[in-house]
Amino acid sequence: MNNEILLKNLRNVPDFPIPGIQFKDVTTLFKDPECLRIMVDEIYELYKDKGITKVVGLESRGFVLGAAVALRLGAGFVMCRKPGKLPAQTRKATYMKEYGKDTIEIHDDAITEDDVVLIHDDLLATGGTMAAAYGLVKGFNPKKTFINFIIELAIEGLNGRECFGDDVEITTLMTI
Ligand code: AMP
Repeated sequence: MNNEILLKNLRNVPDFPIPGIQFKDVTTLFKDPECLRIMVDEIYELYKDKGITKVVGLESRGFVLGAAVALRLGAGFVMCRKPGKLPAQTRKATYMKEYGKDTIEIHDDAITEDDVVLIHDDLLATGGTMAAAYGLVKGFNPKKTFINFIIELAIEGLNGRECFGDDVEITTLMTI
C-alpha cells in the first residue's frame, strides 16, 4: 500500500535503542489525526469481511491500532504482554529479537476455538516477536488466524516472513 502520507509522517530514529538500529517511530503516525484515521481505515478494509472476533495486540505499540481496529470490526481486544504484567493465569513464549531475548504472555482464557483472530503489531523485523505470539494464539486452536503489521522492514538478512508458513495470511500497510 505504502500510503505517501504515512511514509512522510513516519519518523526514523538512527541508533535507537542501540547503535546500528534504524528505529521506525510510529508515535508520529499515532499522534497525527489523518495518519491515525488512514491506518485504522486501511486495516478495517483488509479484514472487514473475514469474520474477525478477536484482535490480539502486541505490547505496546500493537495496542493502539489493535484496539481501534477491534472496535471498528465489532471484535474483542486481547493484550499480549511482557512478562509479569497480566494479572490472571497466562501462557508464555520466549523468543529472540533483533536486539536481545524476550518473553510474551497472554491470558489463559483470552481466546476460544470459536474465535477468528487478527494479531497486530507495529513492525515486522526478524519476525521473532510475532512468531511467538502466533504460536501462543495457535495453541488455543482458533478457527483461523490472520497477521497484520503497520510496517514490514525489507532489509537484507531480516527475512521476517520466513518465520511463517503458508497457512497464515500476512498483510502490512508499508514495506520499507
Ligand atoms: P522482530 O521480533 O525482530 O520482528 O521485532 C519486532 C518488534 O520489535 C516489534 O514489536 C517492533 O516494535 C520492535 N522493533 C524491532 N525492530 C524495530 C525497528 N527497527 N524499529 C521499530 N521497532 C522495531
